[in-house]
Amino acid sequence: MTSLNDLPIRDDLRGKTPYGAPQEHVRVQLNVNENTHPIPEGVATDIVTAVARAVLGVNRYPDREFTELRESLAAYLGHGLAPENIWAANGSNEVLQHVLQAFGGPGRSVLGFPPTYSMHSIIADGTGTRWVTAERDTDYRLSAATVASAIERERPDIVFLCSPNNPTGTPLGIDVIEAAYDATPGILLVDEAYAEFQDGPTALSLLADRPRLLVSRTMSKAFAFAGARVGYLAADPAAIDALRLVRLPYHLSALTQAAAVAALAHADEMLAMVDDIKAQRDRMIAALPALGYTPHESAANFVLFGGVADPHAVFESLFAEGILIRDVGIPNHLRVTAGTDAETTIFLDALARLGAAGDLGRMAP
Ligand SMILES: *Cc1c(COP(=O)(O)O)cnc(C)c1O
Repeated sequence: MTSLNDLPIRDDLRGKTPYGAPQEHVRVQLNVNENTHPIPEGVATDIVTAVARAVLGVNRYPDREFTELRESLAAYLGHGLAPENIWAANGSNEVLQHVLQAFGGPGRSVLGFPPTYSMHSIIADGTGTRWVTAERDTDYRLSAATVASAIERERPDIVFLCSPNNPTGTPLGIDVIEAAYDATPGILLVDEAYAEFQDGPTALSLLADRPRLLVSRTMSKAFAFAGARVGYLAADPAAIDALRLVRLPYHLSALTQAAAVAALAHADEMLAMVDDIKAQRDRMIAALPALGYTPHESAANFVLFGGVADPHAVFESLFAEGILIRDVGIPNHLRVTAGTDAETTIFLDALARLGAAGDLGRMAP
């Protein structure tokens, strides 16, 4: 049988592992930070109508410039942004790939601050961009001084900041983004996949007069649209032109464009559960210490918690009960998505039973 190593694959891809969050259909899926609330039926009907209309035209290529979608996204974001400031692709992962194709690549580097979104280094690998890292401050925070000194030391072509950070949930001060921009002559990308769950200003407020600042967003998380694959980015129109050089023509299908435009017309309904999800997040943060665990601060829709003696054993015990959470590879930690009220109750009750069954999960105090 042929193995990967028998093939003439690129040397720099040998030994790498693909992204692989488990996809298991269990009753409580809290492992990839989706919005676990289904979209409202009335909105679904409107989306289906829009997609049905688009199907009648699929003998033609779609609008390569996805003009209507860029108009809808600019209106959704506000901050004085115009369609010329907007880019979109099949998930923000593809947006990030476009950014690294245009501004990274062989001989260039991108700086990140682990633990951070695992796809950042995987997309760097895929585009031949060197992934360089620098350490965070205590409790996964990042100060302006820490970020600026890492940039001055590493001199990367691109800096990736994740705000709030996945998998830790850590919020990022707007002063840190300003300091990073001032410290680098290169591109600064702020990944704001969880922006709708965070209180306070976003990097969008810094875009004016900062042509090297790129802010990526997604419809996969708060917007309850993960299965449709729509991510986007806001930046100076010149940066958007750079992304046009590397995208494949017609990369966003007519069906995707129609579905996204229809969903954005119902943004309020699509985002209606965000406050409830934040309440469930805060409920977990409040409940976990009494169970012997140490949750970290989170401005997103998930919680990273420490104090787990054997993350693998806890993961497996919960999985046996039909509850899927995430082992993100941080020693003695696990990550759980904030779901519905009922899902949160099932998760917390199961965790409490584990403790009562003989301290399987908790570390010795
Ligand atoms: C989930 C996530 C994304 C979203 O990816 P899509 O391709 O838009 O689904 C992007 N960045 C971070 C940090 C994430 O956690």
